[in-house]
Amino acid sequence: MDKITKDKIVEIEYSLYDSEGNFIEASESFKYLHGHKNIIIGLEEGLEGLGVGDEKEIVIPPEKAYGNYDFEAIQTIPMDVFEGFEIKEGESYYAQSEQGEIIQFKVIKIDKLNNEVIVDFNHPLAGKTLVFNVKIKSIRDATDEELKHGHPH
Ligand code: ZN
Repeated sequence: MDKITKDKIVEIEYSLYDSEGNFIEASESFKYLHGHKNIIIGLEEGLEGLGVGDEKEIVIPPEKAYGNYDFEAIQTIPMDVFEGFEIKEGESYYAQSEQGEIIQFKVIKIDKLNNEVIVDFNHPLAGKTLVFNVKIKSIRDATDEELKHGHPH
């Protein structure tokens, strides 16, 4: 029987909870290439060696998930940067960095007096210990093409 090791294409589905047992999200079943950091490192480590049909609770500290909460990721941005966009306090939005990377941010406060917006660039799950309930659906060897591309086909 195949076990989850580097260069396997693994199909999983999971339910995700925080450390207090609050439900965060449930995934559809999806495939990833194991051992290539395509999923968070703590999840990859917890899945190593499992087989098809296995179910496991994997508890992941923030350092191995979305990182610790970074107070320097809270930034004050001039209001005119948001010109033409309707933003609301407490809402999350996506922006594209100059490098073309998609970044998520949350508007903490719109300071009309000083024409500034206070924004939090932390990942919504930063600082959280995550509890994944994972089920292994299938495991197979990756093809040469998949290894070259770094993702399943
Ligand atoms: Zn490809």
